[in-house]
Amino acid sequence: MSGVIEGRDGPWEMVIGLEVHAQVISRSKLFSGSATEFGAEPNTQVSLVDAAFPGMLPVINGECVAQAVRTGLGLDAHINMVSRFDRKNYFYADLPAGYQISQYAHPVVGGGSIEIELADGSTKRIGVTRLHLEQDAGKSLHDQHPSKSFIDLNRSGIALMEIVSEPDLRTAEEAGAYLRKLRTILRYLGTCDGNMEEGSMRADVNVSVRRHGEPFRTRCEVKNVNSVRFVMQAIEAEAARQVEVWESGGTVEQETRLFDPARGVTRSMRSKEDAHDYRYFPDPDLLPLVLDEGWVAGLRAGLPELPDAKRARFVAEHGLSAYDAAVLVADQETAAFFETVAAGRDAKLAANWIMGDFFAALNRTGCSIGDSPVSAGALGQLLDLLADRTINGRIAKEVFEAMVDTGESPAGIVESRGLRQVTDTGAIDGAVDRVLAAHPDKLAEYRGGKDKLFGFFVGQVMKAMAGKGNPALVNEALRQRLSA
Ligand code: ADP
Ligand code: MG
Repeated sequence: MSGVIEGRDGPWEMVIGLEVHAQVISRSKLFSGSATEFGAEPNTQVSLVDAAFPGMLPVINGECVAQAVRTGLGLDAHINMVSRFDRKNYFYADLPAGYQISQYAHPVVGGGSIEIELADGSTKRIGVTRLHLEQDAGKSLHDQHPSKSFIDLNRSGIALMEIVSEPDLRTAEEAGAYLRKLRTILRYLGTCDGNMEEGSMRADVNVSVRRHGEPFRTRCEVKNVNSVRFVMQAIEAEAARQVEVWESGGTVEQETRLFDPARGVTRSMRSKEDAHDYRYFPDPDLLPLVLDEGWVAGLRAGLPELPDAKRARFVAEHGLSAYDAAVLVADQETAAFFETVAAGRDAKLAANWIMGDFFAALNRTGCSIGDSPVSAGALGQLLDLLADRTINGRIAKEVFEAMVDTGESPAGIVESRGLRQVTDTGAIDGAVDRVLAAHPDKLAEYRGGKDKLFGFFVGQVMKAMAGKGNPALVNEALRQRLSA
């Protein structure tokens, strides 16, 4: 995934820009008081405004505006103190008003940026052109009846943020990293849940290709892609198609396309010739949106610590590597879990346990952090038992597995199963004697110069002690006996 496509007559570079529709977290819709809950019975969350009855007037929902401004602040973006709502006119069966209220010339949020992290450890800053507020449309259901389509207006009027990137992305990997980072920021801010499967975040993917150093060429837009993986696949497929068009002497025409995940190709949906003229004009029912400086400052003061800042703090305060810190801040719950475990303990050890055994256990049991049988407090207690040498590292793994299986406390498991580390040198010497006596051949080889057998003897002694020997004492006892 270098972003370079080897054409017949030399390499091509991809150019990508994303338009993301993110559903605003808000109890009610952008211009009405109807509920927004996902999964409700069709047409149970529809007010007269959402159904576009004649003479109904929209009233702006302040919480949706606050969410858009919080998002803008979280993207380091310019907040436009005056913005405006326009009507975007088009006919569609699930758009009863015949227009969508959107922001065209004057969006609420202007330029900002998002820093992405790539697999090779490098970072790159991607420009965000704008963020504007708009209404969602209703939903047409074509699979409920053999000859009829049904319309559900529950979604009609729900607030969306459209977040447009600059054409700064150069590979499918970068586009994937951008979407994941944007989703993380939205979740931290609590402004969008980022669930692409439920459609609360979807992306329009703009792709073009060019020879290195050339100006941009014509782009195509792949509409409504609903997973990070599909976005990456759509980019690869669309870029390859365009290279083929250019190299066979054709011209890429600007058009809207759809991605077919089953076949892994994009196909044409509509060309520029039938591009809509939306006849945008300012919505006469809505005043310009004028923000108050103090109100914006209050929102800024209320922002949570965002992922980049948290990652930097984990590196500076806890001495984590940039990579480990990035993994742990990918969602807020994991970051909070880590901070609880690490408090007053060896933070690197805490990070290793969380990213290793703990994540593996979540995977295996299908649990999330919230319903995990091992709480942050319990994992911390396990690390304490290691630190004060009640148990050794090998037994700690065994205790952890028992914690996952039973939900019991680590101290309880250690006591009930007799897993305390053995530091009694008499018991250790006894085990050493028994092991050496049982392997006279290996002992002879060792004495003959085969030093590597030392590890074998350590393993055998630990086995003889059911894994509970103090490793340092076992090593020392063996060394003494063998050099005698
Ligand atoms: P429109 O208003 O027609 O949708 P925009 O200027 O808003 O056009 O651009 C839409 C998206 O297309 C943006 O994300 C932008 O980064 C991207 N884009 C613009 N030009 C190109 C190009 N040549 N190749 C790839 N993406 C592009
Ligand atoms: Mg656009």
